[in-house]
Amino acid sequence: MGADIRYGLATNVDFSTHPLRVEIDEEKWIEANAVIISTGASAKWLGLESEQRLNGYGVSACAVCDGFFFKGKEVAIVGAGDTAAEEALYLSKLCSTVHMIVRKDQMRASKIMQDRVLKTSNITIYWNSEAVEVLGDVKVEGLRIKNNQTDKKTDIPVSAFFVAIGHEPNSSIFKGWLDMDEAGYIKTIPGSSKTNIAGVYASGDVQDKIYRQAVTAAGSGCMAALDAERYLSENNLH
Ligand SMILES: Cc1cc2nc3c(=O)[nH]c(=O)nc-3n(C[C@H](O)[C@H](O)[C@H](O)COP(=O)(O)OP(=O)(O)OC[C@H]3O[C@@H](n4cnc5c(N)ncnc54)[C@H](O)[C@@H]3O)c2cc1C
Repeated sequence: MGADIRYGLATNVDFSTHPLRVEIDEEKWIEANAVIISTGASAKWLGLESEQRLNGYGVSACAVCDGFFFKGKEVAIVGAGDTAAEEALYLSKLCSTVHMIVRKDQMRASKIMQDRVLKTSNITIYWNSEAVEVLGDVKVEGLRIKNNQTDKKTDIPVSAFFVAIGHEPNSSIFKGWLDMDEAGYIKTIPGSSKTNIAGVYASGDVQDKIYRQAVTAAGSGCMAALDAERYLSENNLH
């Protein structure tokens, strides 16, 4: 299609005028009549060395994506919000046992989600507990947890460790320009990829805190391309 592909990091934007301006690698400003933002959302990690080393070898931040690979096995999940509860319930349908690690003596998840987790017989909750090490040389073989009240450490044999402590949308450079929710997800006009600034569109995980899947990201990318194309032709731009 003759796309002009350039490599670099968008480090700043100026959406005060048209053409819109984007700074690349903190050194060069480029101008565009339309901008599509697809910078994604990054999973939050605990920051353990073993978690990083075994990422992709049993450590995952997406139960819906990777849970299937551990069908019938014992797995662990860390997190206490609605997403963690939802992912634990999802895993409980696939895996023999789900060990859920919760840092406090209660969960942040909504009452209804908590009740569902508590009523699920193959989910075991470890209250006041923190994951301190993922065990295994080349793949996950267990999880070491520590009770933060007693300091007692316990090793749980598991084949996978799911981290469900949240995601961070990569939207910081657009703050102050674009409407966002409290977590930083860019707000789009429902049924479109339009943001609050004409000519600026958002697609994929940076504007989607619910589904965050490749197929939904690709679909919304297509919407953004069509919205941008329409905007350019309606305004006799290119
Ligand atoms: C472990 C894991 C497994 C998954 N498995 C599946 C699966 O099986 N099926 C499924 O449907 N989905 C899966 N997903 C989800 C899927 O990967 C995402 O929903 C999808 O990639 C989102 O696409 P995106 O284009 O919005 O963002 P991304 O794919 O995250 O792409 C964003 C891109 O923007 C770049 N970027 C960010 N900021 C800047 C900037 N300032 N300047 C320039 N570039 C920037 C990033 O480097 C990145 O390349 C998985 C996710 C994870 C983490």
